[in-house]
Amino acid sequence: MKVSAIFESGVLTEERPGAVSPPEALWKSHKGGLVIVECPQRIPCNPCNTSCPTGAITEFADINDVPAINYDKCTGCALCVARCPGLACFVADLTFGEGMALMKLPYEMLPLPTKGKTVKCLGRTGEVVCEGKVENVAEPLRDRTRVVHVSVPIDKVSDVRAIKVV
Ligand code: SF4
Ligand code: SF4
Repeated sequence: MKVSAIFESGVLTEERPGAVSPPEALWKSHKGGLVIVECPQRIPCNPCNTSCPTGAITEFADINDVPAINYDKCTGCALCVARCPGLACFVADLTFGEGMALMKLPYEMLPLPTKGKTVKCLGRTGEVVCEGKVENVAEPLRDRTRVVHVSVPIDKVSDVRAIKVV
């Protein structure tokens, strides 16, 4: 796909610089999860870097840089998930349970989800990918973005990017 097609549709459909997933071997065994960043366009923005307490999102040489990750430093804390204004950061913990992953997703809608509730898990175009169970709803930091922890089938991690509370 040409770059222009991605930016016309607004939907990320393939690997691109700035769309970063963890290395598979590390991801499978890393408790707490690792960050996924889908931010392929050069824009003047860096809260992912400035909010990361461990330096896992490396310092930008230029404010327009796309994020680069040092996965040896990522703890899965999801502070970047809460602070990214583009809702482009997600955490996935592949060690959550048999066949299940825990995703930490940004959420700015109403109604708020509640712990234990079953929600629709949506893909990049808003399509329903699967159902998930809300495991936790973190209180917002300085703004209103909450981080919702949702357990999903592990084979849906690369597709689930949002939830719908019904
Ligand atoms: S999940 Fe936490 S440690 Fe990992 S990149 Fe985001 S802020 Fe940094
Ligand atoms: S904070 Fe979000 S939108 Fe801004 S550069 Fe980082 S990943 Fe991209």
